[in-house]
Amino acid sequence: MNAIAEIPAKSRLQALIDPAGASFYIACLMALRDIIILPDPRLRLVSEPVGLIDTVTQRLVEDMFETMYDAPGIGLAAIQVGVPKRIITMDLAKKDAARQPIVYIDPEIVSTSEERSVYEEGCLSIPEYYEEVERPAQVKVRYRDLDGESHEVEATGLLATCLQHEIDHLNGVLFIDHLSKLKRDRVTKKFAKVAKREAEE
Ligand code: ZN
Repeated sequence: MNAIAEIPAKSRLQALIDPAGASFYIACLMALRDIIILPDPRLRLVSEPVGLIDTVTQRLVEDMFETMYDAPGIGLAAIQVGVPKRIITMDLAKKDAARQPIVYIDPEIVSTSEERSVYEEGCLSIPEYYEEVERPAQVKVRYRDLDGESHEVEATGLLATCLQHEIDHLNGVLFIDHLSKLKRDRVTKKFAKVAKREAEE
């Protein structure tokens, strides 16, 4: 029996917004997944469209939110937990504010502004490394929600940056690819060295 299939997707997302109000067994079904770290080659995969949203997709989205909140992070792409599907979870709510989980399924950038802005970015797959990245200041993104409904968002500010950072992940692109070769080589070497040391232990 698969209990999770009998709970409507919306109430399960509600459980993420209000963990105290969630029933015990919903909380138990969610699981943390391991976040893959640079230089894991899977970070360079181009993720596949989701297509039909089934219970496996719903389960993955719940796990992604749990993993993202636990990290803690504000955005996560499915490939960061090793699943090459075009799914992004995000929550840009302020630290002490109520949670605002949003899932973007099969997101596409429809248009970008000529105006650009600079944000300091970090990535759960490149821990404790932050650098300023310049990107279009505004983007229009089309995506589907967990019920398969289509939406379009005109994103500005942090949302615009975060959506571009996460959609890059779905195409095998990392934020360090937007830096100078010197900076990118330096951080890539550092993480390769750590991975080699851990493999030897
Ligand atoms: Zn990232």
